[in-house]
Amino acid sequence: MSDPIIDRLRVLEPLTRPLEPRAEERAALSRAAVAHTESFLSWLETAPAFCADEGSAAAIADAPIGRDPIGMERALSLLSHHVDGNGQNTTASGFFAFIPVGSLYHGALGEFVAAVTNRFSGNFLACPGAVRIENQVLRWLASVVGYPETSVGNLTSGGSMANLTAIVVAREAAGLKARDFERAVVYLTEQAHHCVIKGLRVAGLGECVQRRIPIDERFRMIPAALEVAMAEDERAGRIPWLVVATAGTTDAGAVDPLEAIAEISARHSAWFHCDAAYGGPFALCAEGRRILCGIERSDSVALDPHKGLFVPFGVGAVLVKNAAAMRAAYSFTANYIPRAGQLLEEPSPMELSPELSRPFRALRLWLPLQVLGVAPFEAALEEKLLLARYAHARLCTLDGVEVGPEPDLSVVVFRALPRRGDPDAYNARLERSIQEDGRISLSSTMLSGLRYLRLAILSPRTHKDAIDHAIDIIREKIQALAS
Ligand SMILES: *Cc1c(COP(=O)(O)O)cnc(C)c1O
Repeated sequence: MSDPIIDRLRVLEPLTRPLEPRAEERAALSRAAVAHTESFLSWLETAPAFCADEGSAAAIADAPIGRDPIGMERALSLLSHHVDGNGQNTTASGFFAFIPVGSLYHGALGEFVAAVTNRFSGNFLACPGAVRIENQVLRWLASVVGYPETSVGNLTSGGSMANLTAIVVAREAAGLKARDFERAVVYLTEQAHHCVIKGLRVAGLGECVQRRIPIDERFRMIPAALEVAMAEDERAGRIPWLVVATAGTTDAGAVDPLEAIAEISARHSAWFHCDAAYGGPFALCAEGRRILCGIERSDSVALDPHKGLFVPFGVGAVLVKNAAAMRAAYSFTANYIPRAGQLLEEPSPMELSPELSRPFRALRLWLPLQVLGVAPFEAALEEKLLLARYAHARLCTLDGVEVGPEPDLSVVVFRALPRRGDPDAYNARLERSIQEDGRISLSSTMLSGLRYLRLAILSPRTHKDAIDHAIDIIREKIQALAS
């Protein structure tokens, strides 16, 4: 007698075969993928930093996801024509907009290896090696910013999640309950990254008081104003709960005076969080350490290895000094997870984060650090600091350009001054003409109510020649606008 289940299984099994490619098939697939990335990388050497989108909507719509496969060749061809060569080319040497990123090849390979082996890195018992490697990476990051060995942390998907993760730890450490939210005060400047505000809202703290502490002419928090605000809140019966300093603002790369802020936060028993998503990795070089001095006195710090350590998108990091506070915020027990909530030899990521299943992110960072050693990273970060100073000095020599303050880190801000007319509109036109040209990509922002262009330097591919090239293009575009 035939069993309908067995009969159906006999039909299904061969149909699932494509999900398990054999060695020859894998070799062909990876050859195609590597050929694709190699052709991208050789194009990248001379590629523009911005390309207009040509027909990607139609082409992508033309290949709907359906039962019939389109195959690797057509899929990769869609990517080459309608993804890789369109929009912002964030890894080009001439990309100076927002915060440039790298995508270090070794990091991409780390991601590939991690994905193929797919170890469960959330739990020490599931894969002790993966968790040890993650914790080793976190301890190394801690040493970079001068945190003690006893601090803990988590690799997140990026800086926004790192900041959110820290905000929740700070909320729990202060024992804030719903009834306190309207009395709890957060101190930050208008230059703080918007993800901090979003993080507060997501953490349920949308109604807490946000004090925008004034900034000086270099866009840094004024510590005396922080002291006044905190003392006043204390007198008024509010809770000076959280101070968020930025170590490298996105707009201008400014570093808040961290020493002084640490001092004041401690005096008022507030949690001191440092958003060093962009700036933190500069602590790898001596000059960066000098600029970031005081970061080691924060209670928590957010970093973005996918910015300053050049690895592909998807790696942020949060570090917290008070291990018990972080564990208390995220630990849990679950019947189906062995020994959840128990102290094991190494902390598990799942106990220090809202995530359970997660990619083995550490490999994107661990592999390049191990294969290359730290020295090239130190050199690259010092190089970016110096390139920014060089760019600043060169921009100072251009006619009709007003240059912002000497950069703290690697963002230079400047504005072109028209002979007549509205300077903001003029700079918007300049930005557009640079964008349309595409050879380099800049972005703009409002500082002290005025439109500035930003030259943000962070790609590992950006060296002195790329800066010279950018300055030439800026000069050329200004001359074209002026005439
Ligand atoms: C980039 C950035 C963030 C956000 O990080 P994501 O990785 O984009 O989520 C937060 N703060 C600062 C200062 C940043 O530069």
